[in-house]
Parts: sequence; structure tokens; C-alpha cells
Amino acid sequence: MTKKISEEEFDPRKHVKEFKRKCNSCGKIWHSLASREKEIQKSMASDSFSQMAFCCNPGAQLQAKRNREASEGELDKLRKCPECKSGNYKEETLIYEKK
Ligand SMILES: [Zn+2]
Repeated sequence: MTKKISEEEFDPRKHVKEFKRKCNSCGKIWHSLASREKEIQKSMASDSFSQMAFCCNPGAQLQAKRNREASEGELDKLRKCPECKSGNYKEETLIYEKK
């Protein structure tokens, strides 16, 4: 019943994009929402922008660095096997129709 939606047909208003990852080391399968990863990447990009804006304010710079590290850590978590922390995995993109 489920129609396969291709990357080209993907419409963020109608569809949900998800990565299905399978660990090459232990075989664990986990899912990660593409929108979630995009959000983290976006916040990382804006962090480096604010870092430039606050170049003369060491406190703000430190805060921006902390935010960036937190985002990196979160992205890292999504992109590593939750079981054995391996970064060696096969990735498949799944696109669903929103309910
Ligand atoms: Zn694993």
C-alpha cells in the first residue's frame, strides 16, 4: 500500500524524511529524523555567526562555543550507533507521507 516517495518528490509540507541507519559493527538499526539533524546544523551555523558578532566579548564567545559543542554532541549521537558508538553504518533515506 505504501507508495515509495523519491527524494525529488519530497515536499517538507507533506512528507517526513528520516534516515534509517544500520550499524556495520553490531547490526543495530536506528532512525534519525532529517528535520532534526537539519535543525541542529542550522543552530550550529547561527552559533558561529554569533561568535563573530561577539568577537570582543569573551563571555559571549565562551557561551557560543558551549552551544556549538552541545549541538555537535547531539548530532554526533544521532550519527553514531546507539549500541556500540560506531560511526560505521549503512544509511537509507526513508520518506513518509505525513498522517
Ligand atoms: Zn553498533
